[in-house]
Amino acid sequence: MSAQRPKRSSPSRRRFLHQAGLGGAALALGSACSSAAGSKAPEAAQTPQSADSGTSGSNKPVVLSTWYHGLPANDAAWALLSTGGTALDAAEAGVRIPEADPQSNSVGYGGLPDRDGHVTLDACIMDHEGHCGGVAFLEGYKHPISVARKVMEETPHVLLTGQGAAQFAAEMGFQQEDLLTPEARADWQEWLRDGHHAPPVNAQNHDTIGLLALDGEGRLAGACTTSGLAYKMHGRVGDSPLIGAGLYVDGAVGGATATGMGEMVIKVCGSFLVVELMRQGASPQEACEAAVRRIAERQDLEDRQVGFLALDRQGRTGAFAIRGGFNYALTHEGQHGMQDAASLVP
Ligand code: ASP
Repeated sequence: MSAQRPKRSSPSRRRFLHQAGLGGAALALGSACSSAAGSKAPEAAQTPQSADSGTSGSNKPVVLSTWYHGLPANDAAWALLSTGGTALDAAEAGVRIPEADPQSNSVGYGGLPDRDGHVTLDACIMDHEGHCGGVAFLEGYKHPISVARKVMEETPHVLLTGQGAAQFAAEMGFQQEDLLTPEARADWQEWLRDGHHAPPVNAQNHDTIGLLALDGEGRLAGACTTSGLAYKMHGRVGDSPLIGAGLYVDGAVGGATATGMGEMVIKVCGSFLVVELMRQGASPQEACEAAVRRIAERQDLEDRQVGFLALDRQGRTGAFAIRGGFNYALTHEGQHGMQDAASLVP
């Protein structure tokens, strides 16, 4: 998708954007919004949001999540959202589906290991009030998202890693198990044959699930969980467990999540950037597009992929990626299916 002609903004608005360090790019990208409930409130995100907690009392629920494994995830989330459940519960329940699915080789159980054969998982969760928790470099627990939620609810911390995260998971009663399936082991062993122990970095070898939900009370939440880049170096942590990188939610504005090459997302605080652009008046679609362009400004794209999803508190959605092929599952009343995201390059 190519950018449309920049819109003019008033001098004071330009000055504000400049001072905020966000530039005019967000507002200069006028592509159409991929909207779940967008036609209901097309103007709402054009004005700066108030700093309340984001609950509006009555909303139409929406859930969207990355890649094909988003479809069953959305099913589980929708089962809660459509019966009065909270966005937070829906986000957790949704991403637990691919976490438990051995066929999903980029998330949870069945995830491809690092180059030394360890399945190490990253996840985080965040609600509309800014409560959040994450785990990184966690081994032996199938549902890192639920451990992340416990970090949020049971500790004074935001992020636990490695052995400490595993110890905490055990203390919380999660069951330890071997997550390396025979199929994932076979793939890894085949890669070892000619992989030269060098982590491959390209658009093909990863696929996180990031999920954003809006419930009937107007609460937003998000969850992000992954086994990360296949055959990564042992100890490598991507964007997915990092609040602001793989996921960010502000109940007064909206939420965003990322998938793709985590290092590229971390360098621009990707999900935080998307939400802040929405706060300045960009639509979810404009914000996703501007964040991808921010990455493209300074980073070598080679054949790498990054995709963002966004959802604002009015239920409008956005999706944009560096390159074609990024799709996502979108569910709201009357719709449940896959959508292709627009991209910078085909
Ligand atoms: N963002 C994840 C990571 O870098 C992988 C992915 O989403 O494809 O670990």
